[in-house]
Amino acid sequence: MSTYHPLSVQEAIELARTIPGHFSEGADLSCREIGDGNLNLVFHVTDTSSDKSIIIKQAVPYAKVVGESWPLSLDRARIERQALQIQHQYCPSLVPEVYAYCDEMAYTVMEDLSSYTIMRKGLIEGGVYPNFAEHIGEFIANTLFYTSDLGMNQQEKKVLAGQFVNPDLCKITEDLIFEDPYRDSPNNNYAEAIADEAAALRSDLPLHFEVALLRDKFLTRSQALLHGDLHTGSIFVTPESTMVIDPEFAYYGPMGFDIGAVLANLLLNYAAQPGWSKTEELAQREQRLLDMVPAVWNEFESRFRALWNRDLQDEMARTPGYQDHYISQILKDTAGFAGCKMIRRIVGLSHVADIDGIPDDALREAAQRKALAIGKALVRHNRSVSSIEHFMEVITQAI
Ligand code: ADP
Ligand code: MG
Ligand code: MG
Ligand code: MG
Repeated sequence: MSTYHPLSVQEAIELARTIPGHFSEGADLSCREIGDGNLNLVFHVTDTSSDKSIIIKQAVPYAKVVGESWPLSLDRARIERQALQIQHQYCPSLVPEVYAYCDEMAYTVMEDLSSYTIMRKGLIEGGVYPNFAEHIGEFIANTLFYTSDLGMNQQEKKVLAGQFVNPDLCKITEDLIFEDPYRDSPNNNYAEAIADEAAALRSDLPLHFEVALLRDKFLTRSQALLHGDLHTGSIFVTPESTMVIDPEFAYYGPMGFDIGAVLANLLLNYAAQPGWSKTEELAQREQRLLDMVPAVWNEFESRFRALWNRDLQDEMARTPGYQDHYISQILKDTAGFAGCKMIRRIVGLSHVADIDGIPDDALREAAQRKALAIGKALVRHNRSVSSIEHFMEVITQAI
């Protein structure tokens, strides 16, 4: 099974049988393709007579969303698999275990997380995740610190970064996040009702200036191994636990890009709440989401400082004042990237169910406008954001 071809359901079952330690010989296995993403096949293989199961994720050589006209390198499966292994090493309870893989066939066999809920869906349904901030704070602090020049040997880091050159998937980000929303691009996609907002984005030169600076950071700042696509659709949750999946956009980039992705998706769900909540629950649900934003940042910051004080690999980084400066710069980047990510989900190619799924037209439009207002404010003010309290003030003043 070494020449690349997309697996059939039958082949996925046969492959599953070969993974040691999961299914007994002659087990009656069944398989369904459950992928809901745009880029990959996901096979769920279960033993009909026990509760054992595994997931096989396989890349296809094009983006499904636009058909075979948008080719994508299969090497992203290798990148995703290696990123999962590294992230699992630093956060074993927050990342699924990789059981097997084949880079030529572009598949990874991993732990089945079907008992979890995709966080985006959970938040839309009003789910409450009291441990989420702590868990995701640990994920971003550990993965970013230990893959940066602070937490690893600087020469080894360069070699590692060379294994995460991910041009096809970075191009998707560069186009869809940092370019299309500010241009008259055929990739853009928005309702006629907010055409005024989309036009305003295209002519807002001070905003373009900030986006150009953030885009330059995305292109050039090899700070740490990023997940690269850390939205709430890449996070599985239960009220107790959290698992991060789908790091196929992994590359060496600016830390604030991952943190900004998490915060942007919490804020998109916040902006969508009037479209989902019963009147008597609305204020409480909104407040709960807003409170998660500083909670995630504060967990990240305290853990990152603790790792720095314990495991720093870099003598010059002990210079007094440097840690504070470094973290305040991550916060500014976080604000800017969070803003860019909110804007693209409203006017760009790929949207989120939190907003687009709102059944009522007027409430959906109001949510789109609110998300854009927050996103634009975060981009505009990113370089002056001085604390997480100030970050939250930028948001509350925008709405
Ligand atoms: P894509 O890169 O195509 O977005 P994802 O890795 O996000 O693929 O997976 C798509 C969907 O497949 C997820 O939303 C989830 O429903 C399912 N899935 C992926 N990985 C697992 C897993 N380890 N356990 C259970 N379901 C999974
Ligand atoms: Mg996905
Ligand atoms: Mg584990
Ligand atoms: Mg993906």
